[in-house]
Amino acid sequence: MEAGSSAQLRRQMATAASGARRCRLSKVGGGRRPPPARVRVAVRLRPFLDETAGTSEPPCVRAIDSCSLEVANWRNFQETLKYQFDAFYGERSSQQDIYAGSVQPILRHLLEGQNASVLAYGPTGAGKTHTMLGSPEQPGVIPRALMDLLQLTREEGAEGRPWALSVTMSYLEIYQEKVLDLLDPSSGDLVIREDCRGNILIPGLTQKPITSFTDFERHFLPASGNRTVGATRLNQRSSRSHAVLLVKVDQRERLAPFRQREGKLYLIDLAGSEDNRRTGNQGLRLKESGAINTSLFVLGKVVDALSQGLPRVPYRDSKLTRLLQDSLGGSAHSILIANIAPERRFYLDTVSALNFAARSKEVINRPFTNESLQLHVWPPVKLSQKELLGPSEAKRARGSGEEEPGSPEPAAAPGPAFQRFSPLQKLSNMDPAMLERLLSLDHLLGSQGSQGTPLLNTPKRERMVLLKTVEEKDLEIERLKMKQKELEAKVLAQEVTEEEEKENPLSLVRPLSRRALTGAKPLKKAVVMPLQLIQEQAASPHPEIHILKKKKGLKRKLKSLDAPGPEEEEKVEDCWELQISPELLAHGRQKILDLLNEGSTRDLRSLQRIGQKKAQLIVGWRQLHGPFGQVEDLERVEGISARQLQSFLKANILGLAAGRRCGAP
Ligand code: ADP
Ligand code: MG
Repeated sequence: MEAGSSAQLRRQMATAASGARRCRLSKVGGGRRPPPARVRVAVRLRPFLDETAGTSEPPCVRAIDSCSLEVANWRNFQETLKYQFDAFYGERSSQQDIYAGSVQPILRHLLEGQNASVLAYGPTGAGKTHTMLGSPEQPGVIPRALMDLLQLTREEGAEGRPWALSVTMSYLEIYQEKVLDLLDPSSGDLVIREDCRGNILIPGLTQKPITSFTDFERHFLPASGNRTVGATRLNQRSSRSHAVLLVKVDQRERLAPFRQREGKLYLIDLAGSEDNRRTGNQGLRLKESGAINTSLFVLGKVVDALSQGLPRVPYRDSKLTRLLQDSLGGSAHSILIANIAPERRFYLDTVSALNFAARSKEVINRPFTNESLQLHVWPPVKLSQKELLGPSEAKRARGSGEEEPGSPEPAAAPGPAFQRFSPLQKLSNMDPAMLERLLSLDHLLGSQGSQGTPLLNTPKRERMVLLKTVEEKDLEIERLKMKQKELEAKVLAQEVTEEEEKENPLSLVRPLSRRALTGAKPLKKAVVMPLQLIQEQAASPHPEIHILKKKKGLKRKLKSLDAPGPEEEEKVEDCWELQISPELLAHGRQKILDLLNEGSTRDLRSLQRIGQKKAQLIVGWRQLHGPFGQVEDLERVEGISARQLQSFLKANILGLAAGRRCGAP
């Protein structure tokens, strides 16, 4: 490989890296729309394969200049079809020409924490694999890019440099709409997901760390043997699948503010867009072609939608386009290399590849820097049932012997980590952005050697002030919870009454009901409920909704319940509290779990205490980690604290269990 080009790339990338240090743009919180970057398109014409063919038949493609070419119009010999691209590489062009001219310039963006993609497109036999992979004598884009990238990351990430860099590789193929891990073929069809920031992910895909080109070859060569190949009349080892090599460059800042960046490079050798009638494909081959063409057909539709600025881009209609969502109209610097062949028999495929390439030229991407601050990852805090459900429900659940009987403290089951970091855990109720800043400040203090007194170990007085604020907040939350309980009961009471009125307009004149309502007080508080509900429970279509219960220690006062005087009624009011039966609770929890696992962001927002941001975090978590096993898993979602989870549960369980409309079925 040419030494000069490597040095040039190093210079470019070093500039990029130092420029990137000043770059404050990140997708999250970036605010402004990232600047556009058009998809670059290069066309490569391969030479005649049969040396003698060039003399017997003229090529159907001719170069005009380094960016333009023309194709004979066989319908009208007087005419030619002219195309202009970012680059045109003629049949004499070398592997290095293509790499240095079109691929190397976009690699520098990886060190800025941006994504880049190189796609080889064209009919089978036109030279896609030759361009991407090449041969030992003529290495293609993949080995050249890897060699340069690894060399550069070694230099940029050396000890003493501001960023530590690491590189990983994954290799997959999409074959008949299945995503197969070429580094671990036994893993079967993988799913493609999108995280809350719009990044495309494949959970479960093998990622191998690589530090040298030898490392890369060690993984890549055997994996290439796993590719699905077959023979067609056009090409003896025609690739029947789309092969995707993914190289990730991770950067971690060594000093404060400890930023992290991730740049992804996709190197894609697409399967051919051959016409079934010409390849003589039959049976399985025909089926493969069909599947391949479906993917490529959708790719065409995606490119059309993007180039015409249509509101809907059908990325989800095929695996290939879903995977390329990042690269086409997304966040990557992309280059499409359309490979074409000079032979006449390729004419139709050549024209269709050129038309596709011309449309791709119109696609605009908006690459952004994928940067985040390194946050502390706290060990998950497991709260006991008591802490989650509140004392009364936990007490009932204790029947199963989950908690130590007579335990003096509410068994919040905090592990040692929780005890150690409890002030900070409480701080997690804060606005996540504020928390993030606080943590980076903490880092900063730590890194500047502030003698072991970073924020987490603030002097006692400050800590006390913090704790006091937190306690006040807790009290406020408690007050709000009580209020919420009352409101819930009130709504339920009204719903029950309304339903009953609908079913039996005369119900209000029933003696007991009337007595309950004639307490001179309107349905203001939960206390009015018992008399109605006690009566209702016998006829209730939901016998499990026993929502009111006497408080302990006040039994005597309640003996006169049948005929409470005004004064006693006031006491009764204080003596009743909302109580959720276990079945009702389970029902409510199940509904929440269903919503968490199946609900869209919009559905989730209809839950109490869940706003747009939290809903997105939940969907993001679900896409990354799969379904929630239990509602408590919600606590594992970044930005949702144990306390928030608890208040979320209390706010939602009853409403959902009682069948109130919450956006999802
Ligand atoms: P594709 O992957 O598009 O099906 P290949 O890359 O396998 O096509 O190329 C088909 C044949 O043409 C291979 O034998 C390859 O070595 C040869 N070939 C392709 N492009 C060139 C080129 N630029 N120079 C020399 N040979 C080429
Ligand atoms: Mg190929």
